[in-house]
Amino acid sequence: MPPQNIHVIVRVRPLNTLEKKRKVKRSCKVVRTGVDESELDLSPNRARQGLVQVELPSDGRRPQVGMRKSGGNFDKSYKQYHPAVAFPPSSTQQEVFQSSNLPSLINHSMNGYRTTFFAYGQTGAGKTFTVLGEDKKPGLLFRAVNYLFKATKLKSEKENMKFTVRLSAIELYNEQCFDLLTTGHARLKPLQVREHNKQGYYVDRLTGIRCINVNQCIHTIKGAVRQRTVGGHQMNARSSRSHLMITLYVDGTYLTGTGASTFGRITIVDLAGSERLKDTKSGNVKESGFINKSLYTLGKVINGISKNGGTLLPGTTRRHNQNIPFRESVLTKLLVQSLGGDNMCAMCACVSPGSHVTGETVRTLGFAMMVNGI
Ligand code: ADP
Ligand code: MG
Repeated sequence: MPPQNIHVIVRVRPLNTLEKKRKVKRSCKVVRTGVDESELDLSPNRARQGLVQVELPSDGRRPQVGMRKSGGNFDKSYKQYHPAVAFPPSSTQQEVFQSSNLPSLINHSMNGYRTTFFAYGQTGAGKTFTVLGEDKKPGLLFRAVNYLFKATKLKSEKENMKFTVRLSAIELYNEQCFDLLTTGHARLKPLQVREHNKQGYYVDRLTGIRCINVNQCIHTIKGAVRQRTVGGHQMNARSSRSHLMITLYVDGTYLTGTGASTFGRITIVDLAGSERLKDTKSGNVKESGFINKSLYTLGKVINGISKNGGTLLPGTTRRHNQNIPFRESVLTKLLVQSLGGDNMCAMCACVSPGSHVTGETVRTLGFAMMVNGI
């Protein structure tokens, strides 16, 4: 059976201290009939049991979806979503990593394919926590690095191969590409995105650092992430409005036989916040337009690929791919090759549990389910 191309998971974060203090109600939960959320079995092969349920605000009107009858009256309405895996607030980083499909993506990249993992959701929903995490709760990116170095070691011994790993780190902001592995002036200078007739789109003059072990790789990533908060004013606002893309290039060579080589990669993306930006007075109309455009285009591209039967023919210039608008944003130019064909992609939709953001939660889950339909 061919690998499932797209794997969509949903993670609901816990209510934070402030939300608890303000007694924010939880409208978004992971449920399973007859089972309490805390008792869900999240081991990798059982995790598919959960589904995400969102309680919709009652606005006095008759509910439209998933109505629940209570004492003869319709009092609440719910929307339910069935991602591949649903993670309740209590889930650990390791549980999320194991069922995220990242291990399979990494194995696939060692066989010469391009793979992508992205975290999607509104600002504050837990994307950065999921990707980068905290010192004591390292995120999926660091777990992926660990896994990659272990897996390349095993595979190189078993199949008499040699692997090299290189790293690049990009910040995509306002449709411009910045190199996070440089400092000073170079860090602030946007790089050009160019098209290669076989390899597709690439970032010209992007720094690639060879990583020889886990520690050095993690150290380099941490340096890049620190660069994300350098330069310009209001960097916190900027980091929620830019995409962070970390790519690990995995080159393998067989030391015997034909001496063939494989060139795979895994890209991990902490996307910009998906929320609708209402504040047009801030003077950042241009900026919000760009963010919405790239996330919107990402949705259209994934949808277009799914309408093509899940395939994107190799080579980005084929007529076959014309209904897929990947040229409309830099994000999709750089990701398009990982989304179709034999390449693989996984997405974690991050949502907040609070009833004050139900609208955004429903939008995020709607996007996730569209992606899931590929
Ligand atoms: P985003 O990157 O989507 O804007 P963050 O990852 O920064 O959101 O999360 C917002 C806040 O919620 C942070 O303080 C983060 O530590 C916390 N948080 C998010 N997800 C979780 C989680 N699963 N468990 C515990 N805390 C979380
Ligand atoms: Mg973030």
